[in-house]
Amino acid sequence: MAEQRIKVVVGDITTLAVDGIVNAANESLLGGGGVDGAIHRAAGPGLLEECRALGGCAAGSAKITAGHDLAARYVIHAVGPIWEGGDDGEAELLAGCYRTALELARDHDLETIAFPAISTGVYGFPKRAAAEIAVAQCVAFLARSDRPARVLLCFFSEADAEFGREALARSRG
Ligand code: ADP
Repeated sequence: MAEQRIKVVVGDITTLAVDGIVNAANESLLGGGGVDGAIHRAAGPGLLEECRALGGCAAGSAKITAGHDLAARYVIHAVGPIWEGGDDGEAELLAGCYRTALELARDHDLETIAFPAISTGVYGFPKRAAAEIAVAQCVAFLARSDRPARVLLCFFSEADAEFGREALARSRG
């Protein structure tokens, strides 16, 4: 069952020793606040240098770089939508972030990747709905691909992790 390959964890994603961590980046890919700032700080200046060469990334998509000083070998920079009320294609764009990031993980043969709760910080996406989309996209992808073998949904607080656990439990049925 695909759900068994998905795990909810609580903590700082920059500390996870996994093959790849996903960044909640902005379209510039040049760093920012929140998890983006934390990842750039932990990865060191080499990450920004590599990101500069990428020329940005559209919302709903993702690009991959090395992990530099992180324990993770790769960073997948996914650009989530800014929540504008829900009628602006936000759900499909968020789903696109997860799909593209999972495709990149598969194409680079990554065994384990970790996602933060993309768009649920300053971008304002409602947390419960975002967790549902995250789980649904991961389940659908893992059901038809052996890679990544495992996905961690990394929440920054225990309260946020509850949304992930609930979404996973609903998906298991
Ligand atoms: P966005 O702009 O996509 O909303 P944010 O970084 O503002 O991105 O927030 C995305 C989510 O990441 C939020 O739920 C926030 O609590 C969480 N977050 C912030 N720092 C970290 C971290 N170091 N590790 C894991 N999650 C984090």
